[in-house]
Amino acid sequence: MKRRTPLRRRGGQRGQSVEAYRVWIRAHPCMLGCRAPSEAAHLPRTKQHGDAANLVPLCHAHHMEQHRIGVRSFATRYALDLATAAGEYWREFHREEGAGAVL
Ligand SMILES: [Zn+2]
Ligand SMILES: [Zn+2]
Repeated sequence: MKRRTPLRRRGGQRGQSVEAYRVWIRAHPCMLGCRAPSEAAHLPRTKQHGDAANLVPLCHAHHMEQHRIGVRSFATRYALDLATAAGEYWREFHREEGAGAVL
């Protein structure tokens, strides 16, 4: 009789971590300095950490603009390095979470 190895366990933990990260991202001000509440804007991809790290805080207006004009045009317009910024937020999150954090 075959027994299934619970390979999904790590994925489940990562899912929880991503949700916590979304909440953490939204607690930060818009990258463009707006006072409006932030949303977790997702970038198309980040090579370094995969989808989980693909978030930056943007207010609703800038988040919608990012979708409307495309992430590349958005980054160019505001001279943002979104991929680098996303990686920095991700590392900061894990520094605050402590060394034992997931990933
Ligand atoms: Zn979005
Ligand atoms: Zn904004």
